[in-house]
Amino acid sequence: MTTDWFEETLHSGLRARLRIDKLLYEGKSEHQHLILFENKEFGRVLALNGVIQTTERDEFIYHEMLAHVPILAHGAAREILIIGGGDGGMLKEVLKHNTVSRATLVEIDASVIAFSKEYLSMICEEAFDDPRTDTVIADGVDHVETTDQRYDVIIVDSTDPIGPGEVLFTDRFYAACKRCLASNGVLVTQNGVPFLQGEELTNTITTLRQLFSDATCYTATVPGYVGGCMAFGWATDNKSSRATPLAELEARYIAADVKTRCYSPAVHQAAFALPGYIAEMIA
Ligand code: SAM
Repeated sequence: MTTDWFEETLHSGLRARLRIDKLLYEGKSEHQHLILFENKEFGRVLALNGVIQTTERDEFIYHEMLAHVPILAHGAAREILIIGGGDGGMLKEVLKHNTVSRATLVEIDASVIAFSKEYLSMICEEAFDDPRTDTVIADGVDHVETTDQRYDVIIVDSTDPIGPGEVLFTDRFYAACKRCLASNGVLVTQNGVPFLQGEELTNTITTLRQLFSDATCYTATVPGYVGGCMAFGWATDNKSSRATPLAELEARYIAADVKTRCYSPAVHQAAFALPGYIAEMIA
């Protein structure tokens, strides 16, 4: 009997393998190669262009930490923009906040959404059908450069900087995000695993510091992303957001009444305490 393995080539010197217990879908969209399979440890696994995007068992860590940290730090976020995020997991977390009046999701590849609704409903649940959801099929950079809308929180839930996601790591994109952030708005970004992708993190934070008065990163460990903790970029002109006292975060979390399995106000605050090697990368 032959066993199939999915092999993720992360960097020239590192490959990770996950057993394909059941292949559910494999195909090519206009923008990228998609594969979905079942794995004993991670449940359903989605990979685009050979890189794991989300898994059924650990998605809550990534989505909770990238959604609730900026929303609860902001304290009054009503308009949310998600760039990428076609699996719907980020949308589901954002919509847990009753105070959010609209969540706009700008995804370049319509097939990721269609496919996630069919095969990853345990991740997106009913998020795409929520009346507060506005789904736009477009390149994220075009949207932030042209929209008249102003957003309280922008969440960049992108692929890595390869293929269509490359533009979402450019100075041009970050400057356009700043253009459509409301005053006191917060921008957060997916910035990969610093141990392996340090240059990507350094470049993002360097640019964000040129644009915003407060720019740093915070971290969370997501088991499906190999190489240690992940970094999330953080940028705002409202310095007090990051300094929100624990008691205030707790009061907002209780008032929001969101159910979480990873996020808590204490985890939120601790996530900004950076290990020395990461602090050095963004110094
Ligand atoms: N959690 C994931 C990770 O860390 O790798 C990201 C998941 S989400 C599926 C990433 C989405 O970004 C993909 O569906 C992809 O199609 C979308 N995307 C890539 N480039 C984009 C662009 N320029 N504009 C909008 N969406 C983009």
